[in-house]
Amino acid sequence: MVLVTSPHRLAQPMRNYARRVRRHGTDPNNVRMEDVLCDFCHTPWTLDRPMVEGHHGSCICGNCLRAAWALTVTAQASDRPDGAPTKCTMCLEERTDRIFQSPAFSEAFICLRCVRLASRAVARDEEDASTAE
Ligand SMILES: [Zn+2]
Ligand SMILES: [Zn+2]
Repeated sequence: MVLVTSPHRLAQPMRNYARRVRRHGTDPNNVRMEDVLCDFCHTPWTLDRPMVEGHHGSCICGNCLRAAWALTVTAQASDRPDGAPTKCTMCLEERTDRIFQSPAFSEAFICLRCVRLASRAVARDEEDASTAE
């Protein structure tokens, strides 16, 4: 789980991300930052919006991560009341812990473990930014 704040920090070439949720008209050979969309709200990535990268180019933005944290960590709620394993969009594992389902895109899930890891990555980056001043 890696926080990415600019395109050159992505672990994979940009086109791998754009291949997943590609905006209409994206040029696969010239993928730009705004062509990378959050899997959970499909909002384009911008510099003022942290994006956390999962496996195979899955991404969650800071806004969705906050919503996921509020439900799975704070409220301890789960969108999967039957307890059946659900495939997490970020780690691609079948998870039985609490899981957040995107309210807008029902195929997008993030498990409690990934919520914690991603939030830690964002917090760590904010710390780095403040100590670098
Ligand atoms: Zn989002
Ligand atoms: Zn996960």
